[in-house]
Amino acid sequence: MKYLGTPASEGIAIGKVFRYFPYIPVIDPTPVSDEAVEAEGQRYRAAFEQVHGRIETIIEKRAGTEQAEIFQAHLDILEDDTLSDEILEAIAANMNAAQAVDLVYTQYAEVLAAVQDELIAQRAADMMDLRLQLLCALEGKEGADLSQISEPVILVTHDLMPSDTGALDPDMILGIVTEIGGITSHSAIIARSHGIPALFDVENACEKLADGEIVILDARDGILQTEPTAEQFVAYTEKKQQLDQQREEERTYLDVAATTREGDRVSVLLNIGSADEDLDFASHVDGVGLFRTEFLYMGREDLPDEEEQYRLYKKVFEAFAPNPVTLRTLDIGGDKEVRALDLPKEENPFLGNRALRLCFEREEMFLTQLRAVLRASVHGNLKLMFPMVSGLEDLRRAKDLLEKAKEQLRQKGETWNPDLRVGTMIEIPALAVMADLLVKEVDFASIGTNDLTQYTLAVDRVNPAVSHYYQNFNPAVIRLLNYAVTTFRSAGKDISVCGEMGGDRIASVALLGMGIRSLSMGRSSVAAIKKIVCTLDMEQARRSVESACGFATAAEVKSTFQALL
Ligand code: PEP
Ligand code: MG
Repeated sequence: MKYLGTPASEGIAIGKVFRYFPYIPVIDPTPVSDEAVEAEGQRYRAAFEQVHGRIETIIEKRAGTEQAEIFQAHLDILEDDTLSDEILEAIAANMNAAQAVDLVYTQYAEVLAAVQDELIAQRAADMMDLRLQLLCALEGKEGADLSQISEPVILVTHDLMPSDTGALDPDMILGIVTEIGGITSHSAIIARSHGIPALFDVENACEKLADGEIVILDARDGILQTEPTAEQFVAYTEKKQQLDQQREEERTYLDVAATTREGDRVSVLLNIGSADEDLDFASHVDGVGLFRTEFLYMGREDLPDEEEQYRLYKKVFEAFAPNPVTLRTLDIGGDKEVRALDLPKEENPFLGNRALRLCFEREEMFLTQLRAVLRASVHGNLKLMFPMVSGLEDLRRAKDLLEKAKEQLRQKGETWNPDLRVGTMIEIPALAVMADLLVKEVDFASIGTNDLTQYTLAVDRVNPAVSHYYQNFNPAVIRLLNYAVTTFRSAGKDISVCGEMGGDRIASVALLGMGIRSLSMGRSSVAAIKKIVCTLDMEQARRSVESACGFATAAEVKSTFQALL
């Protein structure tokens, strides 16, 4: 049988299934008497201490890894006094400790899960993970433990909690299959950072698979093959060997300065979404090509003030200095909800009052961010850019507000880096078409291919029902990209790509062929893209771009570029 899923970490695995069913606590609804309230509170505190201690041990054991960062985030949530206070209040109102933990953690998790953003929704998974750990501690159960796995297996489970992965020995896990889980979930991040192939969203996988059966996991094409034939077994074994070898080779490029065979230096940059993420990766890249700042505003009740933002931006600028950090101003609204703004529901949120449009409407909020960014700019090499610019009027208005923020700082005697460069995202086709005029008014541009593809092809980027219409390689997208890139290049202005295409192997061939010399991506793509930069036959890539602009279908375009890899 062949089952389909969503690839969350690329690769192929062949091996035995190990189904993992985490312990599910049963919550006793019996209230505690007034006399027992004190003791029940103590029981909660003891469980708290136990979980706290366990997380601290994991952080120590995994110091410097992404897992440690994830568990640090858990510790921060656990240590939040609001949660413990509310739990103790619920116990004071005669709930037993398990009920109180369940109530408080589930309530907060539901609020976070309602935010239509995968990264914020992930915080909900963190809350539910902590809930489970506290409940296990209260029941005196060991909770999740994957350390029992003593031979290499393909792990099959409903969902993987970060705490499960703390005990996981990456050498024993050939692959991961889950029934749910987003590709930006912690499980996916951990799988990718260990290079473990992972396939998510495989419906009822735990029911369909049996322990010990041999399966093939193809997390490139999104296939889980059970009962493989001898031919399939041989073919996939070969494919896997090739892939492993390819990965091995790519890894050797992680620390090289990406330079084309013709001698052009290409900047390989990082996309980051918070002030804590990936700072440890700074030495492997030439800077940050996209710092998505909206996450500072999400998953909270208030707006971050100037001081808080200043501190966070400073931290990021310092971590990457002297390399540039391209900071994108707030890109909220649409699918990214900010509770403090209490925005009205819109019929077409992606076409609505979002990003820069919203910042114009909430000028004070925008000026606060701009002042914080400007002040922090003295601590590094800032490139400032605006999202969702639809035309030159938008750009001019944003630049006027930047001047206003500078004036406000001047009056307070504050300083900023006078060399900061100001640019724009190109993610609305209208702006791409205006590239010849745009180029005269910006220091640089960065193409957001995720939105540019969505708007060019009129296809909702998060709606699975139309995902087959979402084609990065559609000739219309390629022509538009090529026009913007060529226009900027001939004017001698910097242009880069920070959408997902920037870190995609095949797309990078197209972009390099167009003349792009700056690509920004997630950390897992860096080595592979550096290798492509160093080895690609650029003349052929240029010729393929010319041909691609004359093709009729996305399939033809894609295969033309794929052939050069
Ligand atoms: C894009 O649209 O390509 C982009 C990088 O921005 P985001 O994915 O945050 O919308
Ligand atoms: Mg975008």
